[in-house]
Amino acid sequence: MKNFFGKIKNFTKQITEVENNLYTGKKDFLEIYERNAELEKEIEERTYELNIANQRMLTLQHIWDMMNSAKPISSVLKTTVKSLQTELNYLSCVIIQKESDENGDYSEIIAMSEDQTSQKFSTLFKDHLNTERLSYDKNKLIWKALAKHEITHSKNMRDGLDSILPNLDEEVVENILSNAKCRSFIILPLKTINKDFGVLCVLSYREDLTEGELDFLKLFARQIELALTIVNLFQVVKDQAVTDALTGLYNRRYFQECLEKEVTRAKRQHQPFTIIGIDLDHLKHINDKFGHSLGDLAIQQISKVLKQNARSIDVPVRMGGEEFNVLLPGIDSVGGMKAAERIRKAIEDSPIEIVGKITASLGVATFLEQSDNIEELLELTDQAMYQSKRNGRNQVTLAKTNNQSSWQERAIDAFIDILSKQRVPVEEGFSKELCEKLKSSTADTNSPKEMVYTVADMLAKTYNPQHNDGSTKSKLVIATMLAKHFELSQEELDNLKIAMLLYDIGNLMLPKELLQKTEPLSDEDLQHIKEHPVIAARKILEPISDIQDVIPIIEKHHENWDGTGYPNKIKGPEIPLVSQIILITDAYFAMTEKRAYREEMSKEEALEIIKADSGKKWNEALVKEFIHLIGKHENSIKLG
Ligand code: GH3
Ligand code: MG
Repeated sequence: MKNFFGKIKNFTKQITEVENNLYTGKKDFLEIYERNAELEKEIEERTYELNIANQRMLTLQHIWDMMNSAKPISSVLKTTVKSLQTELNYLSCVIIQKESDENGDYSEIIAMSEDQTSQKFSTLFKDHLNTERLSYDKNKLIWKALAKHEITHSKNMRDGLDSILPNLDEEVVENILSNAKCRSFIILPLKTINKDFGVLCVLSYREDLTEGELDFLKLFARQIELALTIVNLFQVVKDQAVTDALTGLYNRRYFQECLEKEVTRAKRQHQPFTIIGIDLDHLKHINDKFGHSLGDLAIQQISKVLKQNARSIDVPVRMGGEEFNVLLPGIDSVGGMKAAERIRKAIEDSPIEIVGKITASLGVATFLEQSDNIEELLELTDQAMYQSKRNGRNQVTLAKTNNQSSWQERAIDAFIDILSKQRVPVEEGFSKELCEKLKSSTADTNSPKEMVYTVADMLAKTYNPQHNDGSTKSKLVIATMLAKHFELSQEELDNLKIAMLLYDIGNLMLPKELLQKTEPLSDEDLQHIKEHPVIAARKILEPISDIQDVIPIIEKHHENWDGTGYPNKIKGPEIPLVSQIILITDAYFAMTEKRAYREEMSKEEALEIIKADSGKKWNEALVKEFIHLIGKHENSIKLG
């Protein structure tokens, strides 16, 4: 028995031991389990943070790549806000720039992510505001943040909105705020080297802003600032550059600066200075026959000659392409002609490999001899150079002293005559205003006579509200280049320029009731609209004696090469080339401009149409040169 109890006791002891062991094991297990769970949670959190950090790194890298891609700053900023919004899951991101003009300070959105909130904003601008000019008020939330350079996290959407759109209808404000999922927003001031640029605004789904998030946003704002600073620096460097990369000669900007100083000096000391204009002969042929790099070599060769022949105070310049000028301080026209002849000879005597002999045509004009107006002097230099070309190239021509009135003066006089004698039905006040402008431009001998372009633009706007400001000048530039290519005489060139300003003046005579007619136009109406302006132009211009040669040019500017034009259905060489030049230039600019009944066409579409009418509306050689010129100059002048 004793043995039995002893065994039981023993068992119980063993069971207790097992139980104890089990308990300890369970406890250990639970502890381990709990620790495991904690670790898993921590791993999960770390992974999440790592993912975010990774995403942020990728976003930063994305921005960095953008900044290195030499894309324009506007697209860099746009991509920047877009990546911030999508990759880091914000509601919306926007960069608002602080700006000012003569009407005071204002602000403008310069980059916005493409999300629903931004779309609503865009609709708001279109439907309610009709302007992209936003408010700037240094006492309001966003702008306070900028002024104090303080990153601001706010839940008050109303104050944010009020900083840029203070005059919005309460109803619209309510609508925006009640629909927005925005719980808070962060304002990050942006500075560039020496000014407050604007702000980056980030709209968030979340009420809170973690420290890590804030650190990242700060880093992000720094990247944007860096991009802006780099762009500024590039601009400064570009603005300061005074030499041309291909030749090492001075550039056009530097020439203008020197010219201004030289004019002041020449007037003060009553001393002349001379300008020599130089244009390489047949460069197009050299390019076509030997390739562009030998064309470049020809340009470099001329530059070398110009440098070798210049005194230390002379300024040899590459004006662009194959055009050069040399400014010779203190030199009169006799000295200028000698210097030009020396340059001409040196170019002729410096053949280049493969191409052989190259030549240039030169024009010479002297300040205080040929003209005391700098604009005119430059034009006279150009005319003299052009004369050398027409007389057979490889020669020097001295500019003619301008006894006759220049084409600008004739155009100004014609406009003043038309307006002051009320030959066209424009409002009297408007007419007086234009006359004043024109008179003031003739009174000031130094002012560029660009006023004729402005007046022509303003008049064109009265019958064609879609007319682009500046297009008169662009048309005239292209027409002049065409005329020079076909080697028209100086007189024809001047008449063409005046005609380019006046050929549509008859449009002012179209009856208002016809222009405002809402029902479809009858054939008779259409015929009237088509032919009347040309006839009216003749009537308006007939009494002005100084522009009699211009009238036939204008009268024939709607005649087609194949005889299908109007008013007289003349054809082929019966039509003056100048009239054909007006027809083709006018057609191109009309097509690339918007009209009430159609959108503007692209450059390519317009040129296709012009090509299709080659040999029909306009002669083939003209079309070929026109297309060449538009291609060549699309970046240097505003076309269309
Ligand atoms: P002209 O004797 O009447 O002056 O004939 P041109 O061929 O020299 O003149 P045109 O104005 O018809 O053509 C100018 C040519 O110069 C066309 C253009 O492509 C070329 N050109 C302009 N700039 C450069 C350049 O930097 N390098 C090269 N290789 N060619 C250039
Ligand atoms: Mg040339």
